[in-house]
Amino acid sequence: MSSLAAELCRHFEKDAQENALLAPYTSARIGGAADLLLTARSLDALRQAAQICWAHGQGFTLLGAGSNLLVSDKGIRGVVILNRAKRQEIRPGAEPAIWAESGASFSSLARAAAAQAFTGLEWAVTIPGTVGGAVYGNAGAFGGEVATDLLWAEALTRQGEQRLSPAQMGYAYRSSALKRAETPALLLAAQFRLAPGDPAQIQSKMEEFTRRRKASQPPGASMGSMFKNPPGDYAGRLIEAAGLKGKRLGNAQISPIHANFFVNLGNATAQDLRELIFLTQQTVQQQFNVKLETEVEMVGEW
Ligand SMILES: Cc1cc2nc3c(=O)[nH]c(=O)nc-3n(C[C@H](O)[C@H](O)[C@H](O)COP(=O)(O)OP(=O)(O)OC[C@H]3O[C@@H](n4cnc5c(N)ncnc54)[C@H](O)[C@@H]3O)c2cc1C
Repeated sequence: MSSLAAELCRHFEKDAQENALLAPYTSARIGGAADLLLTARSLDALRQAAQICWAHGQGFTLLGAGSNLLVSDKGIRGVVILNRAKRQEIRPGAEPAIWAESGASFSSLARAAAAQAFTGLEWAVTIPGTVGGAVYGNAGAFGGEVATDLLWAEALTRQGEQRLSPAQMGYAYRSSALKRAETPALLLAAQFRLAPGDPAQIQSKMEEFTRRRKASQPPGASMGSMFKNPPGDYAGRLIEAAGLKGKRLGNAQISPIHANFFVNLGNATAQDLRELIFLTQQTVQQQFNVKLETEVEMVGEW
């Protein structure tokens, strides 16, 4: 065991697990083992995990809800931090807001706001990730996105902690300055704008979004949309037009219900999924001269 692993195991005790399978921590239920998996159950634990790694000159991989990741079959070398810091708090007043630790479920923020008659985050009710994952990737749905509702986010880097404005987050479609940066930053917490609203209207909006999701999205294990929509078009439409809807490799399938969803039919490998991704990119490029860019991130040792 390396001196880093030994220190982390001493520090995190039962929240440090060697050779831990990652598939259960991803929405696709795919992925090999992490050399060392740390579960951070508080902001302090999150900070300490990162700082101990950095003090040893090592990086780490951060996992929120694992709903936008394809983890390789060989797994992830080094340290993986599983973010379970999930406190949240409504901050009423003249400028109402909701604050949350980055491991909180994003959809739970929408429900908490609704429970106290605050509007603004109803769109987030259908997003299965954490606040950190949403702020990092500028998650969005039904016309809403993090970029318009975020007030600030707190990030930790090797240089220390910093409060970032939406402008500093450098948001673009499913992207942020953090996502594009060479040097890693760990999002600790975020605060989102709310407004007083009508409880019945808020509730019915959330129900409508949930109903529309259920009607259009395939059930089963997936990572959500596999590709970003290219300008002026839809990835799903292009994949379907290329004749790939329903295409299967092993137990990985391009959903026959929604062609931008790639599903695990049971024991699919990451390799099957990756080949399906490459095949799709190649076919769409050849037929329509469009380069599909993955929204899902591939991580680990391939
Ligand atoms: C069924 C389904 C439906 C979906 N629908 C939508 C949708 O409508 N709109 C949409 O935008 N997305 C959607 N997604 C994708 C996904 O839920 C979002 O991208 C989500 O925001 C990812 O959050 P996560 O916690 O799961 O991140 P993860 O998948 O765990 O991580 C994704 C990336 O974010 C980084 N990250 C996570 N937390 C932090 C942090 N605290 N600090 C720094 N980096 C961090 C990770 O290191 C990784 O690089 C869907 C996914 C599924 C499975």
